[in-house]
Amino acid sequence: AVLTSQVIIIGAGAAGLMCAMSAAARGRRVLLLDHANKAGKKILMSGGGRCNFTNLYCEPANFLSHNPHFCKSALARFTQWDFIALVARHGVPYHEKKLGQLFCDNKSSDILDLLLDECEQAGVDLRLSTSVGEITRVDGGYQLQTSIGPTHCESLVIATGGLSIPTLGATGIGYQIARQFGHNLLPTRAGLVPFTITDPQLKALCSELSGTSVEDCRITCNGQSFVENILFTHRGLSGPAILQISSYWQPGEAISIDLLPRIDLPAWLAEQQRERPNSELKTLLADLFTKKMAGLLAEHWLTSKPMKQYTPGELKVIAERLSDWQLVPAGTEGYRTAEVTLGGVDTREVSSKTMESLKSPGLYFIGEVLDVSGHLGGFNFQWAWASGYAAAQYV
Ligand code: FAD
Repeated sequence: AVLTSQVIIIGAGAAGLMCAMSAAARGRRVLLLDHANKAGKKILMSGGGRCNFTNLYCEPANFLSHNPHFCKSALARFTQWDFIALVARHGVPYHEKKLGQLFCDNKSSDILDLLLDECEQAGVDLRLSTSVGEITRVDGGYQLQTSIGPTHCESLVIATGGLSIPTLGATGIGYQIARQFGHNLLPTRAGLVPFTITDPQLKALCSELSGTSVEDCRITCNGQSFVENILFTHRGLSGPAILQISSYWQPGEAISIDLLPRIDLPAWLAEQQRERPNSELKTLLADLFTKKMAGLLAEHWLTSKPMKQYTPGELKVIAERLSDWQLVPAGTEGYRTAEVTLGGVDTREVSSKTMESLKSPGLYFIGEVLDVSGHLGGFNFQWAWASGYAAAQYV
């Protein structure tokens, strides 16, 4: 017998769960399939175990896409305030950490439980450990071969996410399905991901400083900049500012790090030369960085000597190095640790209102499988909620 539903959603992650509960709440009969043995594994892992579930300042400018207008309609119809209201309705305690980022007070499972609870209330048929095989278009919908037998639906929703963290269940099936039904795919690459460094001197510096973070650096690449913390690691650079800029970086390009964006360096150096002429540069830098970092930076590219011995030209170079440290990452850590996948299903072939394919009626794409990726800070979940909700109104 063929298991028949009005809606089949492949992928019980953030977007799939939101779409399932919202479509079922509209009275649609929904079958939600996932090959993993648990729904929402990324939700559980997210935000260091506390799920940064949205952002107070969510705006279309927080998203990357070849088609920057695509996300606007869905984000406007299911906003951060709508998700916050849902969280409040379930009595989940949360707080703003910084920059509008909302986290659970307790754990990420509060968010997953809320979504599963809504799905259950609305009567969603959730099948885990279920794999999907051949998909065919038939009169009035789609037929899917699955490990629980043949299934049929009128509307098929692809919510299988991106390629990041394969150990949490990520596969490329969403892209394969898109291709099968005539969709164009934009090249995918890892986003929100640490950089690796291979230049021997620079790598030694990063490795020696491994574990040290520097607060509020300004990182710039390709006309985008972020002011946030950076973190040195054994293999290169990480921390929120680095993750943010990684989404804008292309292999071979340099990034610029302003280690002290809040200080007028030429003025500060001139003042130090006047007031502490006998102090060495590295001693002064130790007021701004850790002692170890000050010493290593001075060794790495500054030459430390008493302040009175620097010429104005040398002070200018020091100011430039500290405020515009140009370095070329060797690469990124890739999908193994990336929080997000850039690129994917080309949004120019999908309706921004309904998330329905313009190539194959009744087929929908939501969440990260689409070429829409958010900045760090709760934006990727907000896109999953908003796109899932949008599709749910039309399936
Ligand atoms: P996913 O949540 O990835 O769900 C896809 C689902 O599809 C999975 O359940 C998977 O098992 C299933 N699937 C895949 N292939 C198949 C297949 N072949 N057959 C059946 N099912 C399949 N974003 C934030 O906004 N805030 C955060 O705090 C945050 N923290 C993160 C931390 C980590 C470690 C990672 C990796 C990501 C984080 N993100 C965060 C990003 C966020 O998790 C994703 O953008 C979001 O989960 C995307 O939702 P989605 O529903 O599109 O995909």
